[in-house]
Amino acid sequence: KMSAPNIIDKLPNVGTTIFTTMSSLAVAHDAINLGQGFPDFAIDEELADLVSKAMKDGNNQYVHANGLPALREVLADKIEELYGTKISATDEITITPGGTYALYTAFTTIIQPGDEVIVFEPAYDSYIPNIEINGGIAVPISLNYPDYSIPWDLVRAAITDKTKAIIINSPHNPSGALLTDDDMQELIAITSDTSIFIISDEVYEHLVFDNRTHVSILSYPELFARSFVSFSFGKVYNCTGWKLGYSVAPAHYMAAFRKVHQYNTFTCFSPAQYALASYIPNKKYLALSAMMQNKRDYFAQAMQATAFTPVPSFGSYFQLFSFKGITAETEMQLATRLTKEVGVASIPVSAFYKNGTDNSVLRFCFTKNEATLAEAAERLSNARF
Ligand code: PMP
Ligand code: GLN
Repeated sequence: KMSAPNIIDKLPNVGTTIFTTMSSLAVAHDAINLGQGFPDFAIDEELADLVSKAMKDGNNQYVHANGLPALREVLADKIEELYGTKISATDEITITPGGTYALYTAFTTIIQPGDEVIVFEPAYDSYIPNIEINGGIAVPISLNYPDYSIPWDLVRAAITDKTKAIIINSPHNPSGALLTDDDMQELIAITSDTSIFIISDEVYEHLVFDNRTHVSILSYPELFARSFVSFSFGKVYNCTGWKLGYSVAPAHYMAAFRKVHQYNTFTCFSPAQYALASYIPNKKYLALSAMMQNKRDYFAQAMQATAFTPVPSFGSYFQLFSFKGITAETEMQLATRLTKEVGVASIPVSAFYKNGTDNSVLRFCFTKNEATLAEAAERLSNARF
């Protein structure tokens, strides 16, 4: 008699990600999807042409496992110019299939069973499963509501001899909050004389508004010396579906990262790497913040016709809107009802807390054509409360 094997679940606390849940609901109800974060407009034609050219020129085979050398060179130049740190294109950058993979690989490289990792919540939903599948223990700390700043006293109190890493994310998904130089000084004070790693998720580096600047770990040599920093081309070039990004870390850490990487994906989609190597030096990424800030402002203006109140966003693809006092529904209930009844999908921020903290705020993605944003706000203004 045959018996099929059972799977012992490595992620017993995890269901389906909120992005799949809400995007599927949006499709089922033909709703405007302001839930999952992605632009609904075309990428720059010049970039599309370069990918096509790379394919036609025959650049379709495996590139180096660490990424196309020419691409790593332009990234090293960009990092030096923007963040003032000279890194080695050969030893300190690896091209990855997306920023999420770069984070996952960093966690897998450093975590031993029982290690603790401090995670600020609301947290992008891959962090905790990435930690737990490696046998680590996530130690969540809630950011202050509503400015989503880090409560540094709680961080100091959470550190134990098991603390392996702290993961930070700025610009922050879902709140759009930014870390400042003061935060970096706190991080320096807390980690110096410890063996704590920093995992820094900087995928929204070029999405910073109101003349603020992105404060990168890469600008702080004493922090970079203990860090893995993750980036995503998807967020910079409006091509989230490309799933291409990179990790930056000091050479000896990157060597360990590459041991994991080489037997996982080994190397990434090559035509896009050729295209980006010739496209990145045009510095068009410098125009991204202004373009997306206009969209944030356009949407916020249109949302004035609704019952929602904006929570300030200074970066990322997202703006939170509060519905406190308007309804007693949970975030999940309201997000679901709005998708079904008025045809606009959003993300309940409670999905980004392990304990489901519910502050009556929904996350909306504003990186859309103005017509999409106008239609969404119009529909939301018709919501019944
Ligand atoms: N971190 C955050 C905070 C994100 O919002 C995203 C977007 N999905 C990523 C990482 C990963 O990006 P990628 O699609 O390149 O994996
Ligand atoms: N980063 C995007 C978001 O936060 C999408 C992530 C995903 O679909 N996994 O909405």
